[in-house]
Amino acid sequence: MPLSIQPKPGEDRTNQRDQRHTVPILRARSSKRTKICGNPRCHCARDPAARHGPYYEWSYLKGGRLHHRTLTPKQAELMRLAIHSYRKAKKLLRTWEAHTSSSSKFNAPE
Ligand SMILES: [Zn+2]
Repeated sequence: MPLSIQPKPGEDRTNQRDQRHTVPILRARSSKRTKICGNPRCHCARDPAARHGPYYEWSYLKGGRLHHRTLTPKQAELMRLAIHSYRKAKKLLRTWEAHTSSSSKFNAPE
């Protein structure tokens, strides 16, 4: 499957490739978690099943420190796909390298 699709003749191509046909790819971690609100009278204080959430979080390194950002469920789904694409691309690169680096083209001259 191609990564991009050429627009039809006469079609306005302003930013269309970026918005519709680019597969998102991201090296990141995302997680789903529940939280305790801190109110001792809230159900979440005693019952783990009554904790608030789930909340989706994106963890990333910036300036050597780990940061977390809360995502909407829609953003979390897009991020899940982008992380999956990143891992798939990385796996493809490893496979490509394994196949081509063992080629006789790189044998030391005798
Ligand atoms: Zn609570």
